[in-house]
Amino acid sequence: MVKVDVKYTKLFINNEWVDAVSKKTFKTINPQDETVIAEVAEGDKADVDIAVAAAKKAFHRYSPWRTMDASKRGLLMLKLADLIESQARYLAELETLDCGKPVKTAEEEVYYSASVIRYYAGKADKILGNTIPADGEVLSMTLKEPVGVCAQIIPWNYPIPMLSWKIAPALAAGCTIIVKPAEQTPLTALAVAALVKEAGFPPGVVNIIPGYGPTAGAALTHHPNVDKVAFTGSTEVGRLILGAAPAANLKRVTLELGGKSPLVVFNDADIEQAAQIAHAAAFANGGQCCCAGTRTYVQAGVYDQFVTKAAEIAQKRSVGNPFDDVQQGPQIDRDMYSKVLGYIEAGKSAGARCVAGGDKMGDKGYYIKPTVFADVNDDMKIAREEIFGPVQSILKFETFEEVVDRANDTNYGLGAGVITNDITLALSFAKHVRAGSVWINTYDHVASQTPFGGFKDSGIGRELVAATE
Ligand code: NAD
Repeated sequence: MVKVDVKYTKLFINNEWVDAVSKKTFKTINPQDETVIAEVAEGDKADVDIAVAAAKKAFHRYSPWRTMDASKRGLLMLKLADLIESQARYLAELETLDCGKPVKTAEEEVYYSASVIRYYAGKADKILGNTIPADGEVLSMTLKEPVGVCAQIIPWNYPIPMLSWKIAPALAAGCTIIVKPAEQTPLTALAVAALVKEAGFPPGVVNIIPGYGPTAGAALTHHPNVDKVAFTGSTEVGRLILGAAPAANLKRVTLELGGKSPLVVFNDADIEQAAQIAHAAAFANGGQCCCAGTRTYVQAGVYDQFVTKAAEIAQKRSVGNPFDDVQQGPQIDRDMYSKVLGYIEAGKSAGARCVAGGDKMGDKGYYIKPTVFADVNDDMKIAREEIFGPVQSILKFETFEEVVDRANDTNYGLGAGVITNDITLALSFAKHVRAGSVWINTYDHVASQTPFGGFKDSGIGRELVAATE
């Protein structure tokens, strides 16, 4: 077991480390062996009130933050990105300890997150309004204003990237922020908070309140002085957050929620390559990915060949200690572990053919074997519900029209993919499938410069570039 120094476990408010008003703490657990990593201060409504007051003060029209040149905001963000990179290995190890993802992946995610912050640093002084040829003897123009105090509630599957997606556009725009990291993974957000202070952001601009959803999270979403909530997580909680907004103050809400994304492989695809893309789409981050391509639709002509290949690749996937050179670590926590194993049993009892995995791995930690089901039909639970684990469902189809209808027959609409050498077919699929992002001959390519978000139960609004336009 790698020893990682946990330096920050308190709330971060006004650039200071403080205990929760209640003095309560909660345990964060190592998913490799279920041991306690650290006790972390547990924020709730009283702490949220203090953090919101700090963020509101930092947003006052004469505050250091509001009177700072936009270009200087950008420079602070560049400094933050540099500091994050300078601690890449440490942050990656802390992330791996807390959420179980392979350390190599965690390190890539740290560099990616720094690049997101750099991209928005460049936008800070390029948020432009319009001049408008309005009727009459007037000069009409729009002036882009920061929204104000932003609450940002993030999940455990990509803790540092989600932090960067949330804080970077908001800081570029000049907002002030209260982040609530997921209770499963509070540590890296706190470590980044220390770098926010070191970079020189004024007090109150970024505040971090670890704690639970129904207490700290709900206090933020119900708060009358929070101007916007940006949330990534489950559709169920997304509904609660949207519901809370009108009663408090009609705050703005963006929601990035779940998915059950289709990836379609046509007969003309290179099957080896298609199976690799589909494998990565389903199993990246142990399947704990909102846009995971979990419904793999394969055209009849290549179906058998594809199933054999997909099973082979899944059987070879290396799963184990995430500090070793593996592709997959443990699932995040006992709840998710049990939930995913329950879906695997549901797949078996519904008559889907399990061609790889199909069980837990070992007796310690939340490890699950990469699992592939073939001969899945659209009505099975494993084809309809978000599993959020290492489970790929393969379904057979005959025609383009049929597969578009079946791909769209879901409450979700976050991601989709298509693999074919026929560009007309690929573009037609991209046009007709109801998904926020459609990848052609690749999957999960998410860039800072591109908007991200979903249709239907996958959410409201777009993240990344759209946030500063
Ligand atoms: P969740 O939605 O419960 O938690 C996500 C975040 O919301 C956490 O920070 C949590 O503390 C907070 N939260 C929970 N209840 C809240 C409330 N009432 N008010 C305000 N904030 C609240 O997700 P989970 O329980 O961690 O995972 C459950 C399911 O959510 C997964 O199976 C998966 O389907 C989905 N999920 C999706 C994503 C994504 O990236 N879209 C990420 C994580 C989980």
